[in-house]
Amino acid sequence: MDINKVARQHFQMDEFFTGGFAVKGQKVMTDQAEPKESNNNSAFELEKVADEVRRCRECDLGSSRTNAVPGEGNPNARIMFIGEAPGADEDAQGRPFVGRAGKLLDKIITACGLKRSDVFIGNILKCRPPENRDPAAEEIISCLPYLQRQIEIINPEVIVALGAHAARTLLNTNKSIGQMRGQFHEYYSGLGRAPIKLMPTYHTAYLLRNYSQENRQRVWEDMKKVLAELGLPIPERGKNNPASGPQKQL
Ligand code: URA
Repeated sequence: MDINKVARQHFQMDEFFTGGFAVKGQKVMTDQAEPKESNNNSAFELEKVADEVRRCRECDLGSSRTNAVPGEGNPNARIMFIGEAPGADEDAQGRPFVGRAGKLLDKIITACGLKRSDVFIGNILKCRPPENRDPAAEEIISCLPYLQRQIEIINPEVIVALGAHAARTLLNTNKSIGQMRGQFHEYYSGLGRAPIKLMPTYHTAYLLRNYSQENRQRVWEDMKKVLAELGLPIPERGKNNPASGPQKQL
């Protein structure tokens, strides 16, 4: 084991978690008091959005759901994972990605050397479509403003769009996930704001249904690009590295 390398990785991850790790001049934190304040403010603003989502009746899903699923995670996350819509488990618990697809997302996050609490996880739709059918256009139109506000508040450096629905909605395109994945696209969160890098990749539910070495490798390649963009260490195989062997873990 290369002790120096491990120590360097720990240092970088520590910096990442505490918000002092700047990439490309963004989110440079010089004033000790400021991050806390902005963190509190973002948390407060996110809770306001979540509260509105829980009371929302903009579309019919508002009356068929058990629980709305506003999304959850770090208010100052550098990475946001965006899925399609809650499934049965998420609807029952009011939390995103807690079913089988969620367990696989957890593995991906761990393989990246991160924790679920480091990132923000949300969805295009905040309520479960009956029988997990595809989101309808009207549902996306009424729900999207909530996600747009969440992205504006968190202002992540990278968005990982899980699956075609998330990527198409955020990039306003009809391209297939195969055409989009593997390269960064730009998400525009508002006038005067720098575009946010968006990496489309396969949805974990798709990955579970098509659990080939090739597909797992593709997702891992996409995530390595995300880590590189953030200047984060890319975990390697090795028995002392808890996030080792990502291809094996996914
Ligand atoms: N699939 C999604 O797209 N989102 C969830 O929250 C769970 C499964």
